Amino acid sequence: MTFARLWAELEPVGRSAASGGYRRFAWTDADLQLREWFAAQAEARGLDLTTDRAGNQWAWSGDPDARPGVVVGSHLDSVPDGGAYDGPLGVISAFAALDALAERGFAPARPVGVVNFADEEGARFGIACAGSRLLTGALDADRARGLRDGDGVTMAEALTRAGREPEHLGHDEEVLRRIGTFVELHVEQGRGLADLRRPVAVGTAIWPHGRWRIDLPGEANHAGTTRLADRRDPMLALADVIQRARAAAERYGVFATCGKVRVEPNGVNAIPSHVSVWLDARGGESDRVEALVADVGRLVADHGGAITGESWTDRTGFDATLADRLARLLGDAPQLDTGAGHDAGILANAGVPTAMLFVRNPTGVSHSPAEFAEQDDCLAGVAALAAAIEDLAGDAV
Ligand SMILES: [Zn+2]
Repeated sequence: MTFARLWAELEPVGRSAASGGYRRFAWTDADLQLREWFAAQAEARGLDLTTDRAGNQWAWSGDPDARPGVVVGSHLDSVPDGGAYDGPLGVISAFAALDALAERGFAPARPVGVVNFADEEGARFGIACAGSRLLTGALDADRARGLRDGDGVTMAEALTRAGREPEHLGHDEEVLRRIGTFVELHVEQGRGLADLRRPVAVGTAIWPHGRWRIDLPGEANHAGTTRLADRRDPMLALADVIQRARAAAERYGVFATCGKVRVEPNGVNAIPSHVSVWLDARGGESDRVEALVADVGRLVADHGGAITGESWTDRTGFDATLADRLARLLGDAPQLDTGAGHDAGILANAGVPTAMLFVRNPTGVSHSPAEFAEQDDCLAGVAALAAAIEDLAGDAV
């Protein structure tokens, strides 16, 4: 059975023995191994493999330059110590759905493609959905090339090491035109379906969300010889910012998360000279998220620091007609919105008719090694994706 076989093939790639989670960061060896796997899947099915200027991989059946096609797929990279499902479930389900359709002799009237979006999580260079943002022109190629990872390696250098030509990075209108409809299947990152006791939902919208870097300056000094009164310790400001960002999130009814901190020089017996913390903020309404960030910004200024926006995506509604069509097709599947960003949202913002399918996550846990979906629910997802492709690509008009 395709699904179980493909799942087993990807299971060991980029897995940390220590945490059991995945470290599949863009353009690292683990990522390159995943990209080779994707290329092999395309070849095994006789699909045409192409890589666009943004580094995204496409596997097409039919000629999408003659007429735009139906695209399914997701991403294969992960957050630090991420789960097995976020991303790979959508790519594996795409190939499994194509196999299921081929078995029943389905001949699509439109081209059908599978995509592996590059660098979706932004775990290495800080910008989520970098592949789809570059593709659509939402991320400037010069800015992307200059982004640095935690070791100071630029994206341009990482691309060169991965055998790509960074000077070609950028907006790819020709590739974008090939996508008539995009359907991204994804594990649900919440408990909506578990509460509804349904295996599959159709996505309606992605909440407004963004990332900010906060820099808090201090003065490096000895932990044993510097009197408390003489210290400029940015860790105290950090603690204050984190606590008050949380309080503001409760006040505005949104989410605020400080999940990444960089401390310089990061020594046990040294007062830090500088602390950077990243704020992830999102919520159902953009003005509430903006109000939270403004409050945090004022607090940061009071501490002598600076806040810099790294990315912002406004509320993204998926194609409502398409969502209704898929929900009807899938036995009145529930329609849910999500607080998680996706490449589907970037494509929707670029004007591509886009839909998402969510597969039940019994605990709602995601971006963690504990992320999980029952095998039966994954298979229900494959069946739903196959039905969607059959419906959307079976139609000659
Ligand atoms: Zn994802």
